[in-house]
Amino acid sequence: MKQDIKSMTLPQLEGAMEELGEKKFRAKQIFQWLGRGAECFEDMTNLSKQFRQKLDENFYLYAPQVVRRQESQRDGTMKYLWRLRDGNCVETVLMQYRYGNTVCVSTEVGCAMGCAFCASTQGGLVRRLTAGEILDQVIFTQKDSGKKISRIVLMGIGEPLDNFDAVMQFLELVNHPDGVGISMRHISLSTCGLAERIDKLASLHLQLTLSVSLHAPDDETRSKIMPVNRKYNVQRLMESCRKYYQETGRRISFEYAMIRGVNDTPRHAEMLIRQTRGMDAHVNMIPLNHVEGSSLVPSTKEDIRRFQQQLEQAGITATVRRSLGGDIDASCGQLRKKQLQQEEQG
Ligand code: SAH
Repeated sequence: MKQDIKSMTLPQLEGAMEELGEKKFRAKQIFQWLGRGAECFEDMTNLSKQFRQKLDENFYLYAPQVVRRQESQRDGTMKYLWRLRDGNCVETVLMQYRYGNTVCVSTEVGCAMGCAFCASTQGGLVRRLTAGEILDQVIFTQKDSGKKISRIVLMGIGEPLDNFDAVMQFLELVNHPDGVGISMRHISLSTCGLAERIDKLASLHLQLTLSVSLHAPDDETRSKIMPVNRKYNVQRLMESCRKYYQETGRRISFEYAMIRGVNDTPRHAEMLIRQTRGMDAHVNMIPLNHVEGSSLVPSTKEDIRRFQQQLEQAGITATVRRSLGGDIDASCGQLRKKQLQQEEQG
């Protein structure tokens, strides 16, 4: 069986070269080619033809294919739908901010978490991505768009902490100076709240930004919209968040999708203030993106403003996320969902 070369870290690749009876420095050459988006071993022109053939016999190298590319006419946001080696599709979004180009990557094909408001989870989890497949989204979005990427958010399809090992491996790959070379401080990881995995992440002391999709400050509301809350309730989750903050010194950003009449009342704001007190939290409010077939709708502008003011008066920084790419289904899961519907219809 051929091995997946793109998921290999540099030390792993060095080990593999030794096994093949090759010089260790070859690993670095290959690693650099992979980081630049080489699509096949033939591309690696500073390696001998014989050696390239040997690589081809031992490893596979696959580049994801663009199924769709959409560009927002409003803000330049680009959305890619990629076809993977086994035919599955995932989405990547490229957002252009003043402080640099940010890419939002998927970590799984589908998602098992079942959040009521999310399009990504509607067909369940199909499979987890490999480290190389997550990395490919960064490399090939950069290559195809010609835009240098300086920040990464793990906020696409899937639950990153449900695919823990591959995601950690991806972070090592994308962070490496001989690869794409993006610093941990420019990477955000978002989780629906797998508390034990947050504890595990804390113990690694990475300098990335942790985002927690809280969306409700009490068990009654949260369990209704996020099944994960029945396993790790709000109190258990907040314990892990506090521990994470104490251990890493990194402030946590709480995601809060504003859903009309569900989680946006003054009582909810009050409970949210109590939950996040004393941990230098940042609340990121997102007007709910309406998903087809769902009865959940976004809060009104007035309610969002009122909620934000209530948090700020209590000393909690709260921002309302600017919505990009609204004209191209740029929120996670929407494009893949459309593609699946089309494929079903033949
Ligand atoms: N599984 C991870 C990361 C993927 S989702 C997580 O749950 O954090 C990225 C963010 O988008 C999460 O905060 C998620 O709750 C939010 N989200 C999903 N569907 C949404 C919708 N329809 N409107 C607004 N935010 C949504």
